[in-house]
Amino acid sequence: MDQRTDQAAIGETGSIIDLGLPAAGGAFDEHHPPDAALIGDCVHCGFCLPTCPTYVLWGEEMDSPRGRIYLMKEGLEGEAMSDEMVSHWDACLGCMSCVTACPSGVQYDTLIEQTRAQVERRHERSASDRALRSLIFSIFPHPRRLRLLRGPLRAMQRTGLDRAVRRTGLLERMAPQLAAMESLAPRLGKPERLPERVPATGQRRAVVGMLTGCVQGAFFPGVNAATARVLQAEGCDVVVPRGQGCCGALSVHNGREAEAQRYARGIVDTFEAAGVDRVVVNAAGCGSTMKDYARLLADDPAYADRAKALAEKVKDVSEVLDELGPVAVRHPLEMTVAYHDACHLAHAQGVRAQPRRLLDAIPGLELREIAEAELCCGSAGIYNILKPEPARELGDRKAANIVATGAQVLVTANPGCLMQVTSAIERSGHPMGMAHTVEVLDASLRGLPADSLVRPPVATA
Ligand code: SF4
Ligand code: SF4
Repeated sequence: MDQRTDQAAIGETGSIIDLGLPAAGGAFDEHHPPDAALIGDCVHCGFCLPTCPTYVLWGEEMDSPRGRIYLMKEGLEGEAMSDEMVSHWDACLGCMSCVTACPSGVQYDTLIEQTRAQVERRHERSASDRALRSLIFSIFPHPRRLRLLRGPLRAMQRTGLDRAVRRTGLLERMAPQLAAMESLAPRLGKPERLPERVPATGQRRAVVGMLTGCVQGAFFPGVNAATARVLQAEGCDVVVPRGQGCCGALSVHNGREAEAQRYARGIVDTFEAAGVDRVVVNAAGCGSTMKDYARLLADDPAYADRAKALAEKVKDVSEVLDELGPVAVRHPLEMTVAYHDACHLAHAQGVRAQPRRLLDAIPGLELREIAEAELCCGSAGIYNILKPEPARELGDRKAANIVATGAQVLVTANPGCLMQVTSAIERSGHPMGMAHTVEVLDASLRGLPADSLVRPPVATA
């Protein structure tokens, strides 16, 4: 008798799902199916519905957190994994807004991660979907390959070839997902290489390791340089380990469990060897994944304890700066700023107050709040490439809310949000400055003029 049949016999007084095991022939196998106890926490109250971007867009129950949890329950109880079921899970942005909104503490983040890993193992995707995902995952989690792309991309931007291709609309018609990828590419500046150790200014208060990230490192090297300068000015020795790879965030958010675990082990090895008090992250999606390494590597006896120890050291840069408190002088920046909460910072890590406090403490800076702040901008890792239409709708909605604040600069703490919102703001025809939180702090510490941030990025559309 196999374990499942055995358990079914034991469970005559209840269903297999009561025992946490998936029914035979159903959507899931026994390797971490969506947790039945967590599914049971959902009391169907619907408080999460107005904060779920896909429910807001389409008003469909099965495209709400409650509906997706219901489908997980059906799958556990014996319903086979169908294309339709998968389409509703695929449409989820993984924004975790529902986790914040849920009064019953339903851990939808864990549930969707477990479900996605099952989908990737057990569902046959179409050839075109497989090809697109292979392309994405052969580029994005590879810092060196991304850096190699910089040259051709910069050449296209400098010659205006990118705009010319966009104007023809050909790519949009033939391959909307590739067109989405192209339109999101940020305006590339000069590469800035950081030394392996940046010594603290004045008395040393901490030794921190810094994750440089894949997209952050290749497309936003200025953000990494600003992060190192601000930490240095606030009394941190900043260690930037060479050869650090991807943290696994994109893989884990897309159900590529084994790949994510491989990347996570690499990061554990790298930062353990760096001997640092804290690991500072300036990309929200990376930070939330690294804080969850204990769960990701829980089944690996060689790494479980080490992953837990590392995860406890991981902090968003705004958390570290807020905890340390300021020692460096803030110079005035006379400007208005709208702060956009990146979902993986606000909903997944609960970091909302710290970046606002840091910005508020800059003399002359006026902070403005954005309406519908809890709604995702549509970036969501690679969602805006896989699902360009809803992502664009959400981006346009976010851009309208941002423009309505009348602020001069949009500030956020995630490269994905910066690319998505920059592209939507350009479409809105109301150009404005765009910056990461640490770039604003850096400008204040260095006494740069507000104009350096207020200037919109050069239009690419
Ligand atoms: S996930 Fe939470 S908020 Fe949404 S229906 Fe279930 S219990 Fe209610
Ligand atoms: S993670 Fe976001 S998109 Fe997915 S169900 Fe929750 S609120 Fe909706």
